[in-house]
Amino acid sequence: MQKRNTVLLLGILAIVVIILAQIIIIRGHWKQQNEMLTLRYRSLTQYAINSLRGSRISVHDTVMFILNKYSEQVVKELPLIKDEQKLDEKKKEILNYFTTVLNKEQDFTTYLSSYFENQGFEKDFNYKITISDLEIINADTLVIYRSDSFSNRRPFGPGGMMTPTGDSKSGIWVYRPRLISNYYIFFFEYYIDFSDKQKLVLKQTAASLGLSILSILIVVILFLITYRNLMEEKRLSNLKTDFINNMTHELKTPLATITVAGKTLEMEKIRIDESKILETAKLIGKQSVHLNQLINMILEISMWERTQFQLYRKKIDIEEVMSDIVDSFKTGCGNCAELNQKYLFNGAKADIDLVYFTTMINNLLSNAVKYSEKEPVINVEGIVDDQKICIKVADNGIGISKTDQKHVFDKFYRATTGNIHKYKGLGLGLYYVKKIAVAHGGDVTVSSKPGKGSIFTVTIPF
Ligand code: ADP
Repeated sequence: MQKRNTVLLLGILAIVVIILAQIIIIRGHWKQQNEMLTLRYRSLTQYAINSLRGSRISVHDTVMFILNKYSEQVVKELPLIKDEQKLDEKKKEILNYFTTVLNKEQDFTTYLSSYFENQGFEKDFNYKITISDLEIINADTLVIYRSDSFSNRRPFGPGGMMTPTGDSKSGIWVYRPRLISNYYIFFFEYYIDFSDKQKLVLKQTAASLGLSILSILIVVILFLITYRNLMEEKRLSNLKTDFINNMTHELKTPLATITVAGKTLEMEKIRIDESKILETAKLIGKQSVHLNQLINMILEISMWERTQFQLYRKKIDIEEVMSDIVDSFKTGCGNCAELNQKYLFNGAKADIDLVYFTTMINNLLSNAVKYSEKEPVINVEGIVDDQKICIKVADNGIGISKTDQKHVFDKFYRATTGNIHKYKGLGLGLYYVKKIAVAHGGDVTVSSKPGKGSIFTVTIPF
């Protein structure tokens, strides 16, 4: 139990570690693809705008013209504002105006969109322009707005001029020009935003994502199979141990009786009583037969494992056979149960091995008697259905739980529920029944409810 739990825990731990490792790898890959996408669009935009410049159309002319006119006015107004608060308000107004004009007039969208399309890239995006630094040139230079990252800029290296000021998650920063006139100097940043940027990145990472998921799945499946095999081995080894214990117990009982009977025969007062000698001899004989049966059963089963199940089949009137088996069982067990029979075989003749078939039905009947806490009532029914004979053995015994029903036909299996030691057995009877039914090309099933009895159904084609 301890070992099983350790294996389970280690397995789960290994799977968690693998999943975490994969998540880290995928996240890294995702980030890398995201950055590559950003870089690709940034350089595409640079190319696009450079080629615009090359084509004699001045990219910023309109904006600069409007802002020039506005700034000419502002330059006159600014020295007249003495109040700090009013100055701040004016600065905000100026920044707003610049931003509005830029967003309205400095629109590369259509051009960029068709440029991207021509290059075979995604063309549907939104754009946004933000100002990172704005200064109005008066007698002095007056800073109207300066974003944090712009003030912290270093001339070279990361975090310097190349760092965009806006939230790069909201879009890809692709262009940052500096515009200068007599009245102002400012930097603005042009962002493009793909509504399905994640989809674009997903497309790039799909293959590695798929491989990762597949490898995780394979590891999980392998683990489950290994664990299941381990459990199965454990279950079989438990069953074997139980079987050896049960078998020892089963063999010891007749042996003990024979030993006691032998000792009894040695006693002088018994030897002079002929009837006692006969009685003891009969007892020895009966126990020897039982012992022999047990040993034969074990030998036979171990032989099945090595060789093919050999049947000697004959066409036999099934109704006749069934009546014989059930009647002799009843007599054999000394009328131990109320046995009802109802057959509708319509004279069907089945191709069966009589010896094995008899053992099979006897096993079902003796179980029906054995696993009963009240007066056993057993109903044996037989019908012909679709070229198959169908035999039901129903009892009013202790019944079998759902979990046990799945295993009762397994070798050495004995139900774990209830007082198992009360009922003697080796867990081979039903295994035998199943083997015989299958060897005849048929099957056996069970339906049962604990406390309500069980129905075993054997079907054999004919
Ligand atoms: P054994 O009787 O030697 O234990 P079997 O293979 O005949 O082995 O039966 C396997 C298990 O199935 C039994 O241990 C018992 O718990 C359960 N079982 C079989 N037949 C019946 C029945 N008619 N009613 C209730 N339980 C049964």
